[in-house]
Amino acid sequence: MLVIGLTGGIGSGKSTVADALAARGAGVIDTDVIARELTEPGQPTLAEIAATFGADIIGRDGRLDRDALRTQVFSDLDARARLEGILHPRIKDRMLEQLAAIEAPYAVLVIPLLFETSQHTLVDRVLVVDVPESAQRERVRRRSGLTHSEIDRIVASQISRAERLARADDILDNSGDLPALLAQAEHIHRQYIALAADPKA
Ligand code: ATP
Repeated sequence: MLVIGLTGGIGSGKSTVADALAARGAGVIDTDVIARELTEPGQPTLAEIAATFGADIIGRDGRLDRDALRTQVFSDLDARARLEGILHPRIKDRMLEQLAAIEAPYAVLVIPLLFETSQHTLVDRVLVVDVPESAQRERVRRRSGLTHSEIDRIVASQISRAERLARADDILDNSGDLPALLAQAEHIHRQYIALAADPKA
């Protein structure tokens, strides 16, 4: 099966593109969704995170307090590595399990930190959603309520836009409006359908 790795910086438009490809029949696996499932109340992964970072990261409602956890890991590189050590192998296992069960013309793995975690080796092609930093910051701020400095830190913790672009096989330009992005998604979907049918195309 043709496997596409979909990546891009925070707020670049990955989920928007993934939804558009899924609506056209691609088999989409989103690692953010898997991460949320793994950290639902009662999941062993959540218990392990609480054992490592303290009961404070679980809110009164029994759910993971993402803000509290983010505060801990962004001020401490070792803590971040510990969190990734808990989460990433489990996310990868579940992703590969789901991939093996997919019945679709091609599969899309949505992996925000695709290059940072060397998971580009798992896919046939890398699709990058690219956005200029100014638009990226504006969209993230509008959606998330993160402060400027929190957004700065997240952007700084990811590979640079230039490096991501240099390593992409395919690029969608999300500097325009949503219809412009969706038109590009439609176009790349057709290419992937053709490629899946004939890998030499
Ligand atoms: P994250 O890294 O945070 O998971 P993402 O890469 O999945 O984000 P989306 O959630 O698809 O990005 O998009 C981020 C926000 O920007 C959303 O609110 C989305 O609706 C909006 N957005 C995406 N593309 C555009 C666009 N071309 N014009 C305006 N808003 C957009």
